Amino acid sequence: MSAKMSASVEINKVSKVFGEGEKRMQALQDISCTIPDGQFVCLLGPSGCGKSTLLNAVAGFALPSSGDVYAGGKLVTGPGPERGMVFQEYALFPWMTVAQNVAFGLEIKGMAKAQIDERVHSLLAKLGLSDFRQRYPKDLSGGMRQRVAIARVLALDAPILLMDEPFGAIDALTRRNLQDELLRIWGETGKTILFVTHSIEESIYLADRILVMTYRPGTIKRDLSLNLPRPRDTATPEFNELKRELSALVMQEQQRHLEAEKRAVCD
Ligand code: ADP
Ligand code: MG
Repeated sequence: MSAKMSASVEINKVSKVFGEGEKRMQALQDISCTIPDGQFVCLLGPSGCGKSTLLNAVAGFALPSSGDVYAGGKLVTGPGPERGMVFQEYALFPWMTVAQNVAFGLEIKGMAKAQIDERVHSLLAKLGLSDFRQRYPKDLSGGMRQRVAIARVLALDAPILLMDEPFGAIDALTRRNLQDELLRIWGETGKTILFVTHSIEESIYLADRILVMTYRPGTIKRDLSLNLPRPRDTATPEFNELKRELSALVMQEQQRHLEAEKRAVCD
């Protein structure tokens, strides 16, 4: 079904202002960008540069102050079935088992029980969770919980996947496994992915395209297309050259962040 839905994302002159008067703060300024169907895009930048604000505008959780977003060709006015969101904190129901968590959204949609069981079964297998189906979130590691959160969003089969630092709280080894699983799922499903991270290496490992953001106001500082073959090897000269290039860009913005903080302390 999702194959028929268009899954492009169009961001048109999006600005976002928080607060008023003395407290007025421009978080995003005039961001425009078109993400074609099936592209894997990473939004990269230091903390506080507006990555979550932009992702929330695409998700429809918090609309822009001006400008607009189209997802699958439709104006975003709130959350919608063509977009699924994975948060950094595993948004699981603690009183439900793994299988119940994954089934939940499908039950809400009124899908038939046999169909739900089949879909949950196949997703749990895909994410290496079959042996954990009867466990509760508190009995799982952080990596496992995030697998459940991903399975839960995948269950709804939205053609556009929005991910806000989904692996930020996960140890390096598990993180690489999850990145590889995400790439495999992306390869199989052809979803459009907008993935927020502040990790330069993660963005180069994953993305077709990296949007580097400036710090306050958030704008797109660099729009970089990657054509490294996959699976990517973090040890190659090409990978490291990109890492150096992106580090320089991100560091400039981090510096601006530090200076802004210094000014705030001195005021
Ligand atoms: P990032 O995800 O890149 O770390 P955010 O999008 O969370 O950045 O935040 C960008 C800026 O907007 C920050 O300065 C943050 O404090 C501010 N901000 C985010 N959400 C709100 C809000 N609801 N009210 C006021 N300020 C906010
Ligand atoms: Mg954020």
